Amino acid sequence: SLEKMKIVRKSNLNPVLTTYYSQPLAIHQGYKQWLFDLEGKRYLDMFGGICTVSVGHSHPKISEAVNEQIRTLTHCSNVYFHPNIHEYAEKLAAKLPKQLKVIYFVNSGSEANDLAILMARTFTGKHEIFSLKNCYHGMTYQTMALTCNTHYKYPVLPNPGFSKTMNPDVYKGIWGGNRCRDSPVQSDRNCSCLEHCEAAKQYLKQFQEDIKQEFFTPGLAGFFAESIQGVGGAVQYPKGYLKGVYDAVKSAGGLFISDEVQTGFGRTGDSFWGFEGHNIEPDIVTMAKGIGNGFPLAAVATTQEIARSLTRATHFNTFGGNPISCTVGLTVLNIIEEERLQENSKQIGTHLLMELAKLRELSPFVGDVRGKGLMIGVELVSDKESKQPLEPEKFMKLWEKCLGYGLILGKGGLHGNVLRIKPPMCITKEDADFTIQVLHETLQSI
Ligand code: PMP
Repeated sequence: SLEKMKIVRKSNLNPVLTTYYSQPLAIHQGYKQWLFDLEGKRYLDMFGGICTVSVGHSHPKISEAVNEQIRTLTHCSNVYFHPNIHEYAEKLAAKLPKQLKVIYFVNSGSEANDLAILMARTFTGKHEIFSLKNCYHGMTYQTMALTCNTHYKYPVLPNPGFSKTMNPDVYKGIWGGNRCRDSPVQSDRNCSCLEHCEAAKQYLKQFQEDIKQEFFTPGLAGFFAESIQGVGGAVQYPKGYLKGVYDAVKSAGGLFISDEVQTGFGRTGDSFWGFEGHNIEPDIVTMAKGIGNGFPLAAVATTQEIARSLTRATHFNTFGGNPISCTVGLTVLNIIEEERLQENSKQIGTHLLMELAKLRELSPFVGDVRGKGLMIGVELVSDKESKQPLEPEKFMKLWEKCLGYGLILGKGGLHGNVLRIKPPMCITKEDADFTIQVLHETLQSI
């Protein structure tokens, strides 16, 4: 019962685990884009278990494949050959650019990024790792230093070897997403294109000079970025910014690491990977979440040369490439293709973005609507001019009302005022319209 679970949670589970709603929501079952609580109430899951359930809850093809695999082999460790890891690695490699064919399987996004840090350092022989302000790349001890999101930052953690660069936020302006100062160039608020964004250009120039100089003695090993910042609240950079950073990183001898934990596997609609369309060729791609539809599976893809450098460092994990995880990964790839889920992401995502843009015109609280495909952020503000975040009490009221209507949404952003929409990619136009209708009503009630 829920009461018993509350007691166990208090006594036996680490209190660092948070619950989203004021009254805990206990999920009993999932099917496609739906979740069901203990009483059997149905919810439309527009958050997909934090952008993870890519092909739908309890997909019958995955259940079948897992059942079959459990009967055959559950684990043997990766020091032996087993067919699944080979079949899956080949199929996954075929989805990646031709230079990134070497895959190392791990179990979570944090682990993947942790390994990418190690690869960048062993390959370049340098130490400094850059990431963007307000980014989230994981919570292992190393990735905690890489992550720079004030909600998840441990102020006591010393992080030598990790630096941050400005995060030019198209909505709030280049300085807006960084909390450190106001934009010195008023017109740079809303700078959607690098060419017309003086502050972003100035900043990029500074970054290029900084990384060339040995102001940090160890030299540049790598730069991590998502093509759309996920936990940060679907933050998009001025067009051309990623390419500018990429060129600077490459000319300083560093590696560019694309974190595709949220943006990969067709979620952004136009392409299978988020980095595509940015005119960059990452040296390392990390992936998790949607890759396994909720099973513990993650991976790091890189070039032969970079992969070989790891032999100089000892690296090992017991579960990576586990037969069950690989079976799931392979089935997920097949389902995305068979059910044309990337195309669905694009189609339904475009519809959602258009309808949300109409809500932005109607509601004084919808400051910004952004994202791509089924990776969408809706920033709620108390005042559209100042872009001040909506008061937390109002946000919670809206949030819980949505739940009452049977709609689960995610939340994020620097101030926790961004609705995150990242559902299973099998949602329909009716689901999108239901979401809009509920948001329309709940926005009026605050
Ligand atoms: N990278 C990104 C972009 C993420 O969003 C997350 C998780 N929110 C991670 C890495 C870490 O993944 P995990 O929680 O599986 O360790």
